[in-house]
Amino acid sequence: MRTTVGWQAAGPAALRRTSLERRDLRPDDIAVQVDYCGVCHSDLHALHAYDQYTDAPLVPGHEFTGVVAGIGSEVTTFSVGDRVAVGNIVDSCGVCAMCEAGQENFCHSFPTLTYGGTDRQDGAITLGGYSREYVVRDAFVYPLPSGLDPAAAAPLMCAGVTVWEPLRSLGAGPGSRVAVAGLGGLGHLAVKMAVALGATTTVISRTQDKHDDARKLGAHDLIVSTDPRQMAAARDTFDVVIDTISAPHDLAPYLKLVAMDGTLSLLGYLGPVTVEAMDLLIGRKKLSSAGSGGRLATAEMLRFCADNNIAADIEVLPSSQVDTALDRLRRNDVRYRFVLDMSDLD
Ligand SMILES: [Zn+2]
Ligand SMILES: [Zn+2]
Repeated sequence: MRTTVGWQAAGPAALRRTSLERRDLRPDDIAVQVDYCGVCHSDLHALHAYDQYTDAPLVPGHEFTGVVAGIGSEVTTFSVGDRVAVGNIVDSCGVCAMCEAGQENFCHSFPTLTYGGTDRQDGAITLGGYSREYVVRDAFVYPLPSGLDPAAAAPLMCAGVTVWEPLRSLGAGPGSRVAVAGLGGLGHLAVKMAVALGATTTVISRTQDKHDDARKLGAHDLIVSTDPRQMAAARDTFDVVIDTISAPHDLAPYLKLVAMDGTLSLLGYLGPVTVEAMDLLIGRKKLSSAGSGGRLATAEMLRFCADNNIAADIEVLPSSQVDTALDRLRRNDVRYRFVLDMSDLD
């Protein structure tokens, strides 16, 4: 076994620095020195639900960048020292219809998650990127394009690809009208990507406060969701509404904004929802969702971001301040993503 250091759950919402074991490299494995790891809402949920007495060990973190520190005997596409990125899935069955279609994120036997997943070969529980080293199959490692800052690129690997896939599959581009509800980790990247894809892009926010931020991100307009007149005026005007609001909320006002044959894509809140069929019937509207990304889309997204100078707006903290990052994320006190600098684990 290889040993490294990381931040492991020690009770609900508590992490402690500890040494961790990583598997010896298999022929197709890569050891990644983790330099930067984003702090995702999923990490917060996982930690909140964690019970140290009954649950398997938990090390969060599933959007990280770093450099290759070692390669297995059959790895040909990466060399030691290469800049790389890893996201929230680290393996899949490779043979089901979804994997065949390049949508490993929808694998019929469920993709192996970067943390809290079960390794397909040895059955070990995967431990995430809040650590100095991660061992991962080469197929789920992505070259980090040279134009991308490694810290600001880390959130692209979960938040970024989660908004990229629906934007692409729903045809966001020149001539299309995209609205983004919720301006957090997911939302701010959705705005940047939609703008770069050529879509006319509008932010939907509860207050006017985010107006300047929306403009800085490149958005063309902002609609205040609590203003009935603005919402009425925007009825049926968006081909795509990307809903990144993480709390349960009424979808009806957002469905009303969707244009005929357009789609509301629900990305932030993934629990049960209630919809009036009439809100879909009138205008033949569609309700959809998405999460994570396949290998092809992930690689494509990284290239697009490098070409268009897109990365997350981040606040970097040393990993020893992970509690601060989680606490402030819980209060939505971040514009727009925390990234942990793992070098303090050496
Ligand atoms: Zn995530
Ligand atoms: Zn599969």
